[in-house]
Amino acid sequence: MEVCGTHTMAIARMGIRSLLGNKIRLISGPGCPVCVTSESDIARALYLAGLNNVIITTFGDMLRVPSNGVSLQDINSEGGRTEVVFSPVDALEIAKQNEDSQIVFLGVGFETTSPTIAASAILAREQNIHNFSILPMMKTVTPALKFLCEQPDIAIDGFILPGHVSAIIGEEPYIFISDDYNLPCVIAGFEPEDVADTILRLTKMAISGSANLENSYSRAVKAEGNPKAKAIVNKVFRTADAEWRGIGSLPDSGLAFKDKFSEFNASNRFTIPHFDIKPDPRCRCGEVILGKIIPPECPQFGLKCTPTKPLGPCMVSSEGACAAYFKYRMI
Ligand code: SF4
Repeated sequence: MEVCGTHTMAIARMGIRSLLGNKIRLISGPGCPVCVTSESDIARALYLAGLNNVIITTFGDMLRVPSNGVSLQDINSEGGRTEVVFSPVDALEIAKQNEDSQIVFLGVGFETTSPTIAASAILAREQNIHNFSILPMMKTVTPALKFLCEQPDIAIDGFILPGHVSAIIGEEPYIFISDDYNLPCVIAGFEPEDVADTILRLTKMAISGSANLENSYSRAVKAEGNPKAKAIVNKVFRTADAEWRGIGSLPDSGLAFKDKFSEFNASNRFTIPHFDIKPDPRCRCGEVILGKIIPPECPQFGLKCTPTKPLGPCMVSSEGACAAYFKYRMI
């Protein structure tokens, strides 16, 4: 299983599944940050988008994710304002240019994105920007990996570990996969040679019955990760329980503001109602995310659900498994 949306797209683009025959099955896991964001968190974002004088800032993939059939794009068409940014730091510029509005950045992402989200809060304080806040929905990868290791019905034989996340957190956080669950796992890069080398390493371990943590991406991933990025995140955030689509609540799998940065928490700045949104029963993203089904096994795939008319985030996101299967016609 790969647990990185960039790997999901890279593997699909390279056509690697078709080269492996039927002895090795590659499945996609919860590696797309937009896809794993819970329905209730999407509803909270949509609520904020509907408020007067609020400008939502977000990465583009969030724009069309529906909750109860409504997306940020729909709210925009009715007078809401959502700005797509390439970095949360860009949202600070929007805040400076719109002093009469409240600017909310949707904090969606894994360890790769968390450092820049944390940096935006630090910069907002340094620059006295008081109309900027973040709706925290960030996730950490290792609790989801632990959850997957404990699911007998998924029965994963090995993990292709996320290269970008690993460049931040390093190698050590994954050691439990091999030590406690006796599963091989390899940190992988994104070039065809990287993915091929990773699959070869996993296959050799599976055949020999060994289970190690290996690093096939050592040109980018150091054992200790990126201490500066980790320090920035630790300055602003602490770990907290988080809701995952398809999984539910996972202990210590998200990031929450530390008290000294809580002024930038959009959940404190606004009174957001409690939402308990049930998933659209037609959409099986929850099972796709856990590798229980592949996208073409969803009855809506390519029929009622396409990239132009998506029913769920796995078809919306540029890193979603359904979008990858659709784009590269892996049917
Ligand atoms: Fe959901 Fe569409 Fe994927 Fe089916 S094909 S799981 S409806 S996103």
